[in-house]
Amino acid sequence: MDFVPAPSGGTPVKVPVVEVEAVDVAEPVNAESIAVEVVSSEYETDSDDSDGLDTLSQSETTIQLIRDEQLRDGLVPGACSLEEAVAFRKRLHAVGKAAFVEETLVRETVTAKKLCTAFGIMPPAFLEGEPDESYGPLLAIALSREFSRRPKLPEYNTVDDAVRLLRESKNIIVLTGAGISTSLGIPDFRSKDTGLYSKLEHLGLSDPQEVFDIHVFREDPSIFFSIAKDILPTEKKYSPTHGFIKLLQDKGKLLTNYTQNIDNIEANAGVLPEKIVQCHGSFATATCVKCKHRVSGDAIFDEIKEGKIPECSLCRQSIEADALKPQGLKRKRSSNGDHKDRKNFEDSSDEEDYEIPTPGVMKPDITFFGEDLPDEFGHRLVHHDRELADLVIVIGTSLKVAPVAEVPGILPRKIPQIYISRTPVSHTGFDIDLLGDCDVVVSELCRRAGWNLDHHMIPVNEKVDVTPVEGYESRHVFQVNGA
Ligand SMILES: [Zn+2]
Repeated sequence: MDFVPAPSGGTPVKVPVVEVEAVDVAEPVNAESIAVEVVSSEYETDSDDSDGLDTLSQSETTIQLIRDEQLRDGLVPGACSLEEAVAFRKRLHAVGKAAFVEETLVRETVTAKKLCTAFGIMPPAFLEGEPDESYGPLLAIALSREFSRRPKLPEYNTVDDAVRLLRESKNIIVLTGAGISTSLGIPDFRSKDTGLYSKLEHLGLSDPQEVFDIHVFREDPSIFFSIAKDILPTEKKYSPTHGFIKLLQDKGKLLTNYTQNIDNIEANAGVLPEKIVQCHGSFATATCVKCKHRVSGDAIFDEIKEGKIPECSLCRQSIEADALKPQGLKRKRSSNGDHKDRKNFEDSSDEEDYEIPTPGVMKPDITFFGEDLPDEFGHRLVHHDRELADLVIVIGTSLKVAPVAEVPGILPRKIPQIYISRTPVSHTGFDIDLLGDCDVVVSELCRRAGWNLDHHMIPVNEKVDVTPVEGYESRHVFQVNGA
């Protein structure tokens, strides 16, 4: 499972980008003083109806984005067809913004209003009836958005291309999300019905995300621990997709697996710790909120399973040692009864810690909202992987959440990118989309590559049908024959 921390800070990988569209628009968007801010679903989901909420908000007005499927199906009156849109996008990337505007708007071959639709922006109702120039600022945004996007590499389209890339690549980056663990019965946090959040209503929180809010945790850790037992990785099982990542490692092809998941299941499959970056932390270790004493996650699992709040053994020892000291040396709680400022909780000096003689709570090292992401992510990506990677495979995530969402943009654009998930994403262009249950997709890819992906969840005589998606030469749907 994965979830969304809300990081803060300055470096590219720590920007609180919770929405990839914001990255796209981060380029010079201040076209003629239109301030565009992107709003979208706050958290990612791997469920089937993910992309539904994409909008741009322009001060009071909300501008709708158009999906490629809507263009393909002719659902937007006056809009480009999907073929026209794709041609305009290719042309923009080929000639640049200035030349593109010259040969379209200046020569009046197409209206600005219609061009907006080619780049996925719905002409807003408030501009209806206005002269075509009124659409200029909006079009400028649309062009910048498209231009900052990685264009699809035209030479990779088919399943055979994907198989060949797998066989020939030597340094593969695999990005994973909740979708690779759902076949194990681990709930996808954010999907509306099956997700964990729906189970949290009885806790009476104003927002279920508060369970993973560091401030709420410091105030009342029992809220988190009341559900932690449900998300704790217990059995040593793993999915065929985890097995696939291990297989890439065995073949010497796995550069790094960046995972948004906190379940640490990669380890069960045998993926080496040095090959994994857990972008949102994991249950593998836990740290005392007071003294920072760190233990293996296993050490507190029993207490979590029993519904207890695990306490720091080191803190407890020092409190007990302190209790044996002569009374006169013991610090007393201040007489005015003031509580310490919660904000300074962690910064408080050792002396102050004696004011309230309770051991610190052991917090699993998953990244909560309001906490910084592990530094390892950006460092490894920029200083190590960026130079080496020759293929990116994204599996089981709609790739809308930082920092993983930023990976395809940070890598050189010539590196091929393959997407494996149930539903395609429109906000970032992959070279090949392999759609379906990711366990089924990877097992079929291995079959075609002549690789032995042995896993008890893959039926021995499994037959998989692969069908192209109409209107897309690089999208293919994988389905088990007879399923
Ligand atoms: Zn402690």
